[in-house]
Amino acid sequence: MPVVRRDPIDEVLALDLGGRGIAGFFVPGSALAAARALSGARRVLIATGFCIPPGLPETDGPPGAAVLGRALGLLGAGVRYVTDPVVVPLLWATLEALQAPAEVLTYPDGVDARTLLTDERPTHLVAVERPGRAPSGDYLSARGESVAAWNGPIDELFVFARGAPRRTKHARPVTIAVGDGGNEVGMGNVRARLCRQGRLMARIASVVRVDHLVVAGTSNWGAYGIVAGLERLTGRALLHTPDQERRLIEACVEAGAVDGIVRSPKPTVDGLPLDVQAAIVELLRLAAASRHERRAIIGLEGGSSMMETP
Ligand code: MG
Ligand code: MG
Repeated sequence: MPVVRRDPIDEVLALDLGGRGIAGFFVPGSALAAARALSGARRVLIATGFCIPPGLPETDGPPGAAVLGRALGLLGAGVRYVTDPVVVPLLWATLEALQAPAEVLTYPDGVDARTLLTDERPTHLVAVERPGRAPSGDYLSARGESVAAWNGPIDELFVFARGAPRRTKHARPVTIAVGDGGNEVGMGNVRARLCRQGRLMARIASVVRVDHLVVAGTSNWGAYGIVAGLERLTGRALLHTPDQERRLIEACVEAGAVDGIVRSPKPTVDGLPLDVQAAIVELLRLAAASRHERRAIIGLEGGSSMMETP
């Protein structure tokens, strides 16, 4: 039988510590594929921020967006963010904790997606934990409540971008999205699989499709997984550290964020504590290495080690 080696980046992203049924709609290889698509990106617009009733932004999303944006900036891309006004303070706090300041645009009422795309001319559009419209046109929480009052229709950037004619090589941005629950931008790619999970999921699952969908146990991890992919492809250190991860989440909460599942102002993400978030970053730092490099790190190649067989 052939040896089957799964990518350790996928193994980390597929960790379903919250028991959310990720395996039912996980997309193997997508973090590395998204990283490949982002290699050489010139202008990236990153949409993030998910507000739950009564209008509280959650800790999942902005840290992932900021870590990915910082990595793309280090690789030479111009990076801007777009979100709702209530998310701006915590996105700023997150970027400051990473020492990666950047411009954050708000999506005003009545803005035209076409105008924003014409002004920004992004080569790549990325969503990290951003509400995506359901078949009804509403934006719905995992519990099925409407969250449209607090989340602007930023997903229309993705709807419009995919519908735009491919007149020239650069006319249509590459679209990438990260999600964890089914109700985010990008989940249109796996909607049929999501619908098998029951009536609530069929009602909330987004119809918005993208070129590359990354599914993960939390959306922050999915974005970090793309950065791990970029690190492997470029050989450059791009991921943040576990200590920085702790500071990012704490900065988010100090700036007004709540845990999206527990719905309380605690430095947790989707109910999972800071130590778990930090541990995932540590795992991804190792997963980012090539197989050869990993084997050398753990002493199976290229030198003596306690783990070497005699
Ligand atoms: Mg989610
Ligand atoms: Mg989440």
